[in-house]
Amino acid sequence: MAFKRSSVRSRLAPLINKSMLRLLSLIFIAFISFNCSQLKMINEARHYFNNSLTNPDEAEVYPELTERNRLMGSLPAERKCYNVSHYDLNLEIDMDQKTIAGYNTITALAVNNFTKLQVDLSKSMNIENISYNDQSLLYTRKEDAVFVDFPAISAGTEFSFTVHYNGTPRVAPRPPWDDGFVWETDKAGRQFVAVTSEGLGASHWWPCKDHISDEPNSMAVNITVPSGLMCVSSGQLKETKDVGNGKTEYRWFVNNPINNYNISVNIGHYAVIQDTIHSLGQVHDATYYVLDYNEAVAREHFKEARTVIRALEHYFGPYQWWEDGYKLVQAPYLGMEHQTAVTYGNDFRIYDKSKSRSIYGFIDYITLHETAHEWWGNSITACDPADVWVHEGFGTYTEVLYVEYLLGYDLSIDYLIQKRRGIGNRKAIVGPRNQNYWGFGDAYNKGAWIIHTLRSVIDNDELFFSTLKGFAVDNAKGIVCTEDVRDYFSEKTDIDLDKFFDQYLFNRMVPTLEYAQQNGKFYYRWSGAIAGFNMPVNLLVNKSEERIYPGTETESIDIPVYATVEVKDWEYLIIKKENKELLPGTAFSGSN
Ligand SMILES: [Zn+2]
Repeated sequence: MAFKRSSVRSRLAPLINKSMLRLLSLIFIAFISFNCSQLKMINEARHYFNNSLTNPDEAEVYPELTERNRLMGSLPAERKCYNVSHYDLNLEIDMDQKTIAGYNTITALAVNNFTKLQVDLSKSMNIENISYNDQSLLYTRKEDAVFVDFPAISAGTEFSFTVHYNGTPRVAPRPPWDDGFVWETDKAGRQFVAVTSEGLGASHWWPCKDHISDEPNSMAVNITVPSGLMCVSSGQLKETKDVGNGKTEYRWFVNNPINNYNISVNIGHYAVIQDTIHSLGQVHDATYYVLDYNEAVAREHFKEARTVIRALEHYFGPYQWWEDGYKLVQAPYLGMEHQTAVTYGNDFRIYDKSKSRSIYGFIDYITLHETAHEWWGNSITACDPADVWVHEGFGTYTEVLYVEYLLGYDLSIDYLIQKRRGIGNRKAIVGPRNQNYWGFGDAYNKGAWIIHTLRSVIDNDELFFSTLKGFAVDNAKGIVCTEDVRDYFSEKTDIDLDKFFDQYLFNRMVPTLEYAQQNGKFYYRWSGAIAGFNMPVNLLVNKSEERIYPGTETESIDIPVYATVEVKDWEYLIIKKENKELLPGTAFSGSN
């Protein structure tokens, strides 16, 4: 999902008369205008590098484990005993009452012998019946988990059961970051509805085995809405059926693995724009669903998707879902990576920082970032929400690579440096597993910086990019943990990355490179790093590249006297700190 910006509102504004405010502003602007650009430059220079990157003294604590998160986050025997192969979701949405009703038939493979399984559905939903082979089953509920008693089922058996349910689903307080249904109206005052689930879990509106590691191989999404409205979901639209009483059923089918939170419905007065995307020697269909009055602007604006897909296939290999299509779907919130139906709510604007999110004015952040998730998140899915940096870090680094693809490496560094300001270092990116803990936060900007740092450690772009693409291709439609990323890159590059991952992913602190220069020598060492951390760093010595291999003891290299030395901290996520105590003859020049 999109990176969250915090909003700041002035509390003084209502107290000041508007015209008075205007007059004061004019005086203020006249007073400072002379120095304005200089101030801005100084300010930017001050924040460009290290000052914006710190290791705060106090660590942030991970959330306390609640009973709900224990049930949602862990994989006890009642969940391990089955592996979902197919969901057949059938729902009617009452747009006026804001309720849903229907059933989901879950087909699964029994992995172990069992007589009880856990399926998940929000406790605010009413279960009418759970049936298996035309028999009603007994069940108990605890938080959002439902424990269902079955007759003995043996390992290796394929079985299906159906949950009939209804209810008033949660209204999203702040989609896509705080999930639920989004009951909106468009500019013409007509109903415009969507749903988001990442973080909260899809079981807030449909019953499923709600753990990120279990994806069905396929899913039917059959949604009935009032005729006149259109419902767009993931996959292919197989059929549109008039079911009487002024209602229409939209039958979508996803013929690929999909994680639960990627399932959505988007209901509105859509126009359908057909486009084509040329990539890897083939021509594919792309379809854009936008509110009818946005057709003209979207037809132009979404042309960018062609370049985005081409660039991403260049870096990460084939888009995995051509069979299910590539769709952009206008939604009444910012955007979300819903597989093959990427939702877009970014206003079709450029160079408008008030609301739209654009990169250098002309790259639409939402089209780019959410499409990046088709590789990172949708194709390759994290094994646990604690590992969600695999979605967001690689997703954010995709933005950087796209800037590099279009505008070159130097501008991509400029873009990346802007992202350094948002790094918190208050807790390790990979937090506790099995607790339904979603490791957002530093997953985005720090995650991207870690991948960029890894690129610099490998110090061979051809090898880095072939490994990156290899990882995306070899793990396509798969589930990975952080350790799988580490091991893959270690193996392909022949670099032991254990300490690198321990430092950057499993610890919160960014290492500090301490250095000092005197009499034709450059002294350096790591501080604030984990034991054994030995990441190499490239320097520019009179513009000539030198690689150093710092440890925690002070070491040195010979350099020309009075050489200009630059630590390439635009290639490494490090804090750099000049420390004269490293110089020989200083009381503290030994190790710390
Ligand atoms: Zn994202």
